[in-house]
Amino acid sequence: MRSKIVAGNWKMNKTLEEATALSSEIIKLVSEEVKGNAKIIFCTPFPFLLPVKGIIGNSSQVSVGAQNCSEHEAGAYTGEVSASMLKSMVIPYVILGHSERRQYFGEDGKLLAKKIDVVLKHGLTPIFCCGEPLEVRERNEHEQLVKQQVEEGLFHLNEESIRKIVIAYEPVWAIGTGKTATAAQAQEMHSVIRKHLSDRYGKALADNISILYGGSVNAGNAKELFGCADVDGGLVGGASLKAREFVEIIKSI
Ligand code: PEP
Repeated sequence: MRSKIVAGNWKMNKTLEEATALSSEIIKLVSEEVKGNAKIIFCTPFPFLLPVKGIIGNSSQVSVGAQNCSEHEAGAYTGEVSASMLKSMVIPYVILGHSERRQYFGEDGKLLAKKIDVVLKHGLTPIFCCGEPLEVRERNEHEQLVKQQVEEGLFHLNEESIRKIVIAYEPVWAIGTGKTATAAQAQEMHSVIRKHLSDRYGKALADNISILYGGSVNAGNAKELFGCADVDGGLVGGASLKAREFVEIIKSI
């Protein structure tokens, strides 16, 4: 069975004090109110990973993730953070290929395939993002583009490795805009992605990969989105920065 996951992408937000307060508040509310066993992940900025991990303690439900890492193992790459550093800090997840990294930092499929490899080599779970910009959807080329992103980033993996991936479908036009995909649009694209995985790796394997939806998920729309057959949870940006709202999203799964 694939896992249900709600991951918060904090992006470049919060001070240390705010980050520890936010994580403490969410953990308190989760312990008091959350009945389900969906995995909850705080994808924090690098400097907050260890402090937030310390606050989480040894919870089996809540963990931390990074938002990126280098494709290089080590060396003269000033400002970069490697997968082996994250491994040494026991960080289980890392987001790769977020549309903001593709758009502002020029990350392409070839680079992301390298990042996927280095992250898997060190035993971390990548949360691989894909999704189309508005103009691509308007040209009705969104299925083709997302399939291509999945192929470029992931299809070099063997069966043993692809099982370890979490995918996040995040239409770029829905990220941070307040414009959520409808449940029907989300389900359609998740089933396109799962079918593509199935054609490459077989149905049994594709049925076991968690595919999260991301793009203006909030407490009001999460239940309907998470109710879709192929939506296994969410990657949540803005709404993950508000404890009460994030917990309501978790309770929607
Ligand atoms: C994201 O950053 O991955 C995201 C989905 O952001 P938001 O929820 O704010 O649209």
